[in-house]
Amino acid sequence: MWKKNLNHSQKKSHYVAIIGGSVSGSEAAAMLANQGVRAVVIDQNALPYGKLEDGLPKWHHNLRDKQEAEIDKKLDQALIRFIPNLKIGRDFAFKDLADLGFTAVILANGAWKDRPLPVPGIDQFKDKQLIYQNDLLKWYNHYHEPDYKGKRYDIKDGAVVIGGGLASLDVMKIVMMELVEKALKEKLGKDIVVDQFAMEKKGIDKYLEQFGLKYEDLGLKGATLIYRRQAKHMPLKQPQGGTQEAREKAQIVSQRILDNYKKKFHFHFIPEATPVGYIEKDGKLEGLILQKFRTLEDGKLVPIERETFPIYTEQVISSIGSIPEKIEGIPYDGDRIKTEGQDDISRISGFNNVFAIGNAVTGKGNIKTAKEHGSMVTQKLLDEYLKKDTQAFDLELEAYNEEVRKKTDNRVAKIFKELFNKELPDDGIVDHIWEVSKDYQDRVGFKDYKSWIADHKPVRYEKIIADKLKEVKS
Ligand SMILES: Cc1cc2nc3c(=O)[nH]c(=O)nc-3n(C[C@H](O)[C@H](O)[C@H](O)COP(=O)(O)OP(=O)(O)OC[C@H]3O[C@@H](n4cnc5c(N)ncnc54)[C@H](O)[C@@H]3O)c2cc1C
Repeated sequence: MWKKNLNHSQKKSHYVAIIGGSVSGSEAAAMLANQGVRAVVIDQNALPYGKLEDGLPKWHHNLRDKQEAEIDKKLDQALIRFIPNLKIGRDFAFKDLADLGFTAVILANGAWKDRPLPVPGIDQFKDKQLIYQNDLLKWYNHYHEPDYKGKRYDIKDGAVVIGGGLASLDVMKIVMMELVEKALKEKLGKDIVVDQFAMEKKGIDKYLEQFGLKYEDLGLKGATLIYRRQAKHMPLKQPQGGTQEAREKAQIVSQRILDNYKKKFHFHFIPEATPVGYIEKDGKLEGLILQKFRTLEDGKLVPIERETFPIYTEQVISSIGSIPEKIEGIPYDGDRIKTEGQDDISRISGFNNVFAIGNAVTGKGNIKTAKEHGSMVTQKLLDEYLKKDTQAFDLELEAYNEEVRKKTDNRVAKIFKELFNKELPDDGIVDHIWEVSKDYQDRVGFKDYKSWIADHKPVRYEKIIADKLKEVKS
């Protein structure tokens, strides 16, 4: 029996689908491929880089390029098939994907939905006077591209940002640098070259020296960051250990980080307040009603009764965190993907063979954690499902495949016929998956990984600025 001794060709019968090709998804795919397991990596975008491309602010270009090169190395392998521009839940139902008969499905789809600002009715102003962080970052990272077609925003002086994490400080930098660039162009002419990467590195004051200007000369009111606790409670520095001393140390560092950012980028800060209502005039958002809080020593918040105050602004930017975008067919517990079993393996409730990795489940927004979590879950998957108990697993797989085949043959055949106007091939599930994924690649014109990436990498800001500076000099 072929199942009794696992050799390379038999391992190939495992076929894993990975939704999302970024930090965690590419890590999982490479680990599987290294063990001879084939993987189909599906991404909603042309490029598999997720938040590196559309979240991590563009001034982190060295980090971005290094991480993207790592992803390319991981995904450009014979046992990995990359399908771009296919959004699971929109272009292809999760249920249909699960029914195709993959050995396992891994959700590595990150956290792409902004947590809604908890002010009833305020979302009616979305993309007008209210901007959410994910949209803002996508615009900021790409608006310089000559063929940019996404949403466009105009940052307003006096903008108010709600948030308190590291990402909200990135948002404050973007807002202030955009305001300074606009003010400089109004003062010195629109053809002047403003290099935001240099401004980000030096800070606003030092950057303005080359123009013989001071921040005050620009006549800006500046933007305001509103946080519900005190500066020292901001999660800017994680305590090294669980002791009171470690917590206090982290608080001192958090306070210092905020102070440095405020000094370098000239924004205002209102602590211990959160929006509870909005001010509207003629159908436009004109401001927020803020509730005042008192923060207790343990970080708990106590609202100060009847103490609310207005803040008037033309623009509100919400930077209060991201949650996974829901995919129909996946169970959720509130905002979180519902997982069960051992905490550290993140198996999706109700499925034996669907797992989640990275930002989609960790709740932590950094590259290292996404990579480590992807690696840890995939290693367990390999050890516990794809290698150790191979015989039992493969018997189970065969039964599963038989069952799936019987149950879904007609439906899969129908989908296949509708999509590709072809009869379902009858030479096994693996070949079938191979064929379906190949057809999806053909549909978008994907030939090979390297040329696809080269054709879809956008023009970089640093290149545009370098070219402009060269032009000015010559
Ligand atoms: C403002 C900001 C600043 C940051 N700064 C840093 C920093 O300085 N250092 C650091 O380490 N980290 C930083 N990060 C976080 C870091 O970028 C992420 O933690 C990391 O990219 C998460 O990797 P991931 O693979 O879990 O998710 P993602 O990178 O989000 O990848 C998920 C992938 O899934 C795809 N996808 C989603 N839904 C579907 C679907 N339905 N069908 C198909 N594909 C789908 C997406 O297109 C994407 O490619 C920052 C993030 C932000 C937003």
